[in-house]
Amino acid sequence: MPYLYDTKPPTMDAAAFISRFVEIFWLYWDAVLKQLYSFSLYNVYHWVIVWCLLCFILELVFPRKLDYKVVGRKGFWQDLFYVFFNDFLFMGLGFFALMYVIGEAYTAGFASIGIDNPVLFEIHSLPLWAQLLILFILVDLMEFLAHYAMHRFNFLWAFHKIHHAQEEIGFASSRHFHWGEFFIFKPFLFLPLGLIGYTAKEFTILQLTLVYFAAFFSHTNIKFNFGFFNYLIITPQTHLWHHAKNLPMRYGVNFASVLPLWDLLIGTYYLPKTDEAPELGVDDMDEMPRSFLGQFVYPFVFLFSKGKQKDNVFEASLTTADTLSAPTQNKPIAKTKGKAAKKKRKKT
Ligand SMILES: [Zn+2]
Ligand SMILES: [Zn+2]
Repeated sequence: MPYLYDTKPPTMDAAAFISRFVEIFWLYWDAVLKQLYSFSLYNVYHWVIVWCLLCFILELVFPRKLDYKVVGRKGFWQDLFYVFFNDFLFMGLGFFALMYVIGEAYTAGFASIGIDNPVLFEIHSLPLWAQLLILFILVDLMEFLAHYAMHRFNFLWAFHKIHHAQEEIGFASSRHFHWGEFFIFKPFLFLPLGLIGYTAKEFTILQLTLVYFAAFFSHTNIKFNFGFFNYLIITPQTHLWHHAKNLPMRYGVNFASVLPLWDLLIGTYYLPKTDEAPELGVDDMDEMPRSFLGQFVYPFVFLFSKGKQKDNVFEASLTTADTLSAPTQNKPIAKTKGKAAKKKRKKT
């Protein structure tokens, strides 16, 4: 696998991992600053700004008939801050650096057990279009699985709940999530890709482009019937139901990052034939922190308090995230049993 530097570190213990991370972090800090001032077609940062403006204009032209305004909606300015924090600071810097170091640690780990080349299949031997297609499908499938896991396992839900604790959403809401999601999941999403020869850089660039642009678009607060396209690609119409407070299924619906295909395959695709928008948020909205700092520490407070008092993470979820707890299958709410389901039925 290609490296950022010509020579790879001989060992990758914890200290080497951290010092390498810091080293590459600063390297990217310089690179990102230069990017911000250089205008070119390949400048992802500028495309993100253009794309955000387009989504914003769509919200003005096709507003959903909800009782909130485009700019005046709850959390608009905080969401913009999340765009800066997650995408410019963490995604652009920490995430890039982490992916590079994970890539190196991955190879160093295999080398330590006598495997010099862990690549099972060299993807770069295929034509470019095939490489991109396979990379996209694999990343999207793993994003889908990771997203489902974040809804399915309580300690991961503690992080992802920050994204769902939004009562009003717009394009910038897509970046309103806890930074821990990057650091818990993305490195693991990359590992299978390494086995077929993809580099950390390729994975990261895909994250920054297609998946990323789809995320902004899917949160856009617009009223538009996408018809058949709802089955082909994520839309604001389907993703809105992912944010429904009263979940149509126990763990949620419409987990897709880009392709609804995965939801259709496992039966979590959901789009009712109604013009009415669902109520958004989580059951215990009143308990969720409103400030950025409160949201920053929320998962840790949860994990080191409520979550730890119980032996079983699912038991813990009964008291905190009851919409996502007890049953073992993602059944429709009306057919489930138990304390959480009874609570849910009362509300609907
Ligand atoms: Zn979610
Ligand atoms: Zn969302």
